[in-house]
Amino acid sequence: MMKFDTVIIGGGLAGLTCGIRLAKAGQRCAIISSGQSALHFSSGSLDLLNVLPDGTEVDNPLEAVKQMPTLAPSHPYAKIGAERFADLAADAVELLTGAGVAVVGEAVKNHYRLTPVGGLKRTWLSFKGYVTSDKGDALPWKSVALFNAEGFLDFYTQFLSDEMRKMGTECKVHTFNLPALEAIRQNPTEMRSANIARIFDSEETLNQLAEIISREMGDAEAVLLPAVLGVDCRDGVAKLEKRLSRKVAVIATLPPSVPGLQVQTLLRRYFQELGGVYLLGDTATGYKSEGDNITSVYTHNHGDIALKADNYVLATGSYFSQGLVATNGTVVEPLFGVDVAYDKDRNNWYERDMFTAQPYEKFGIETNADFQALRGGKSVNNLYAIGAGLMGFNAVKEGCGAGVSMLTAINVADRILSKR
Ligand SMILES: Cc1cc2nc3c(=O)[nH]c(=O)nc-3n(C[C@H](O)[C@H](O)[C@H](O)COP(=O)(O)OP(=O)(O)OC[C@H]3O[C@@H](n4cnc5c(N)ncnc54)[C@H](O)[C@@H]3O)c2cc1C
Repeated sequence: MMKFDTVIIGGGLAGLTCGIRLAKAGQRCAIISSGQSALHFSSGSLDLLNVLPDGTEVDNPLEAVKQMPTLAPSHPYAKIGAERFADLAADAVELLTGAGVAVVGEAVKNHYRLTPVGGLKRTWLSFKGYVTSDKGDALPWKSVALFNAEGFLDFYTQFLSDEMRKMGTECKVHTFNLPALEAIRQNPTEMRSANIARIFDSEETLNQLAEIISREMGDAEAVLLPAVLGVDCRDGVAKLEKRLSRKVAVIATLPPSVPGLQVQTLLRRYFQELGGVYLLGDTATGYKSEGDNITSVYTHNHGDIALKADNYVLATGSYFSQGLVATNGTVVEPLFGVDVAYDKDRNNWYERDMFTAQPYEKFGIETNADFQALRGGKSVNNLYAIGAGLMGFNAVKEGCGAGVSMLTAINVADRILSKR
């Protein structure tokens, strides 16, 4: 038997945020984490609230969230409330900074990030070094030099340069080749973002890149590159900027997202430094309960060794991470079998127009106002649900994915701490 104060199931953004908050307050926590999280697909930005459920675009999330109880009473933000929302958003930034994740942006004013296909989209926080803008229709520069690694197909220079030109930024595309790239180019399937990023962990390779850029960038105001400037090395942008004496910024590539992987690693390390136990590559497979309490959780790797805790947090994500599973006519939460809100008529799950909000996105785990999960309509005393698996919001349409995950995580951690 292993005993903890809190066991968290799921080690993505929500689970790690919750674990860090609890471990920082002195709790002994374990996170069971079976695999990849949505962070591995991160755009390089964390969204808080970009669009209200009625379609109104949001410039100031702190102001807009006040409408949530009226527009969408079951939205996680409606449960949190506008006042606490502001505090939690500030706490989330502090937590990221503590973990060594450098971000720009603020909850009182969304900024814009450049998408991999050259559009500008609202967001809350962007990882430092990414292309961002204060305006939704223009970049901060009149001319840029856009560089890509020769043969790297997960970065669309043509789209990017066309879209930038439409926004009034002259964009010249360059490709670069390096000895270290030759090795991975032997096999075209190896030309993926994470593999390319690894070569820039070497100072020598970064210097070689700086030399090429310096020769070719001309008088462009800024140098833009795909987000592949190192895995362990996280200051590739700053180093290049210093060497080139020019503004340098990166743009998201297709997954895997190198900055997303870096953030996942930084958060995990921070959690472990705080004394947390991270069971990497393990899957929670079962549980025992007594009355309205969960008494233990079992995992694939630990067999019949029980993980016991005073509180349990379900942070297993949505369909994407199998925190929710859709079968023929039902949507279930597969571990505890807690209540899931969904339309019983399968015909209502999808909209024909794939660009409109899809009803199934809002299906998810039902909770009370404290995010305690429900079974048969009754709350389970010591089981909380957080993150992407919750009901009542559409992370894609509303642009609120990271915000819901981080804010519900901190909210629940504080709720657990207040129980003592
Ligand atoms: C492809 C994709 C890209 C996204 N990009 C962005 C973005 O750029 N910006 C943004 O703001 N939002 C984005 N989102 C929204 C995203 O949902 C949130 O930002 C957030 O990262 C979700 O975190 P989470 O921890 O709630 O869930 P997840 O990231 O899904 O993590 C859940 C974790 O639980 C694990 N798990 C599941 N079942 C078990 C089990 N039984 N035992 C142990 N572990 C288990 C999974 O393996 C997974 O690691 C994206 C979502 C997706 C699907």
